Amino acid sequence: MLKRLEIAGFKSFAKKTVLDFSSSVTSVVGPNGSGKSNVAEAFRFALGEQSMKSMRGKRSEDLIWSGSNIAPRANRAAVTIVFDNRGRIFPKLEFDEVSIERAVFRDGASEYAINGSKVRLRDVQELLASANIGETGHHIISQGEADRILTAQPRERRAMLEDALGLKVYEFKKQEAERKLERTEENVGQVEALRREIAPHIRFLQKQVEKLERAEELAKELRLASQTYFAIEEAYIRIERERTEAATTEATGRLRAVEAELSLFEERATTDSEGMKRSEAVRQAERNLDRITAERSVLARDLGRIEGALNEAKKRSVAVARDPYVKIPREDLSALKEEVDAQVALVEGAEPGAIHAAIQSLRNAMAAFFERYAGPADDFMADEELMAKELEGKREDMVRKDAELTEETERARSELSHARERMMAHEETGREQNRRLLDLAESKAKVEAELARHSAHLGQLDYLAEDLEQNRREAVALVGVNALSYEAVSELPQEERRVQEDRKRSMERLKIRVEEAGGSGEDVRSEYKEATEREAFLATELEDLATSAAGLRSLIAELDAELQKSFAEGLAKVNASFGEFFGLMFGGGGARLVLEEVSQPGAEDEEDEYEEVKRKPNQKPGIEISVHLPKKRVQSLMQLSGGERALTSIALIFAMSQVNPPPFLILDETDAALDEANSRRYGDMIESLSHKSQLIVITHNRETMSRASILYGVTMGADGISKLLSVKFEEAQAVAK
Ligand code: ATP
Repeated sequence: MLKRLEIAGFKSFAKKTVLDFSSSVTSVVGPNGSGKSNVAEAFRFALGEQSMKSMRGKRSEDLIWSGSNIAPRANRAAVTIVFDNRGRIFPKLEFDEVSIERAVFRDGASEYAINGSKVRLRDVQELLASANIGETGHHIISQGEADRILTAQPRERRAMLEDALGLKVYEFKKQEAERKLERTEENVGQVEALRREIAPHIRFLQKQVEKLERAEELAKELRLASQTYFAIEEAYIRIERERTEAATTEATGRLRAVEAELSLFEERATTDSEGMKRSEAVRQAERNLDRITAERSVLARDLGRIEGALNEAKKRSVAVARDPYVKIPREDLSALKEEVDAQVALVEGAEPGAIHAAIQSLRNAMAAFFERYAGPADDFMADEELMAKELEGKREDMVRKDAELTEETERARSELSHARERMMAHEETGREQNRRLLDLAESKAKVEAELARHSAHLGQLDYLAEDLEQNRREAVALVGVNALSYEAVSELPQEERRVQEDRKRSMERLKIRVEEAGGSGEDVRSEYKEATEREAFLATELEDLATSAAGLRSLIAELDAELQKSFAEGLAKVNASFGEFFGLMFGGGGARLVLEEVSQPGAEDEEDEYEEVKRKPNQKPGIEISVHLPKKRVQSLMQLSGGERALTSIALIFAMSQVNPPPFLILDETDAALDEANSRRYGDMIESLSHKSQLIVITHNRETMSRASILYGVTMGADGISKLLSVKFEEAQAVAK
């Protein structure tokens, strides 16, 4: 899997140096201080090691060739590891060869590249994790660090073991899932807060829309009521007018006939000058009477109109409304109650804007109600009252005028009859003719009175026509021109006039209710639509979030279970190998990894809440090592000799490597403390490990060297530059010495 290591400007490797790893065991040999460990560190460096300490430096500069008496210092240290990816150990990269390069500059900046393309450290880490090249560096055992796993804390040890078992991937996934879950839960909280925030606004808008709908319903009702009323009223006025006008024409005809006969009397009397004089006086008196009658007829029509208006005004006027016993129609009372209830319901739990709007609505409703039943406010008079007053004044004038005219008529009438009497006396006409003349005069007066009645009635109809026009205008203003699109009625319904008057009253009441309901317009509807859409969006978002939170929770549980299972299995396997390797190295005895005892939450713990909280976040037990050496009582790691420690850690490292073989394993003088017999066993183990992992061993040990198929000799001349030479085993032995 490892193909090549290219080092340039890194530590003592001033010049570009290439190490090929075409065999499963490669040995690096050379004298002390020649730069062998620098090779191991070159690996660490290229794999993204961030700890300067583990590369024996303080600053990045320490990693760059610092120059010597002969060669100048370098400004850049670069290491490239080339992997064979034909077996797709990096499954995401479709290349047969994968190179990971890292360079560091004197200012401390690092650059990473995968196959020559610049990437971030994170990309390198992710790539390596996918190939089980973990970050705790369990696959690179530095010089003197073999027993790091022995000195580590139980918890650290567990991390190393998890890493070696390849469980970091699960751990990463779990952490990512937990982060996502946390974010999801935050989002849930935010969305819920948003929903709570807009809820009262939506309720308010909904009530407004309902109000609008109610107003529309009322407007429709008003439109229908108005249309019926208008159609019938129109027909009534038309038919009454026709009838009255026909009656007028007919009466006028009769009048003409009576007048014609009367003038015959007058003509007959013009035989002498005295007779002429007397008949002229009669004509004069007649003309006078006609003039007054005509005047009265006009007055009657006007008076009819005024009286119609006055009646109407009185019906609505304050005089009636202020009457303490006035009956308020049940309909109006319940309309007011309905409005109050609606507004009160609306205000419950509403925001200030809504409350204000509701109060305004109530004020409007109350004002309309009181104006109708309790009179206007004192500081101004209702138009109707003013109008009624004015009409009353006009009517009084007219009535006075009418009385005057009546008197005048009487006078003119008696004058006429005197004139006639004188005329008749002169003519000496018979009693019969006298009687006829009186009859005619009486008929004329009757017809005239009849005509005056018709005139008054026409006056009333004029008023009704005006009133109808006014109502039509109001209806258009309240419900639109549609109020006027109705079919004309040719015949009046079989009903009393009172029914139509009731129609008018209920139309008036509807008008008030429509005014009170006052539609707030289309913007409320669109705002409501927008708000409900947003609410629906938030609801689905919340659902989605809940779904993904549930998904994440079960993923975490799955990962936990997987982790636990894999860890338990891995631990058992490692323990089996550990015991075996240990027995092999020590010729007996035993060793095993045991889980640290975690105090179970007991009665005491429950009392100590603080302890409880402190322990909770990390409940996974750490790992302890228990050993027992053959023929010795020693149980504690502390009591082992240097060699024994080395053997124990080698056994453990090898055991871990065997359970989950890393692609490569670098061992820097791990065998330093071994005697001859143990060196042989070590060599055997190297060979067996090399079936699964590529091994690079830095060693002074002949036995170890003998197991390698490639040997690199590292030397350092007077120029302080590490040089590489490929050597034969025998040469290697010599170089190593
Ligand atoms: P041993 O067998 O004693 O463990 P080694 O072969 O492992 O020795 P290294 O520790 O790899 O030797 O090499 C250390 C050498 O590298 C030292 O001579 C040191 O001066 C040199 N060296 C370290 N850093 C730099 C640097 N930045 N520039 C030049 N030389 C450096």
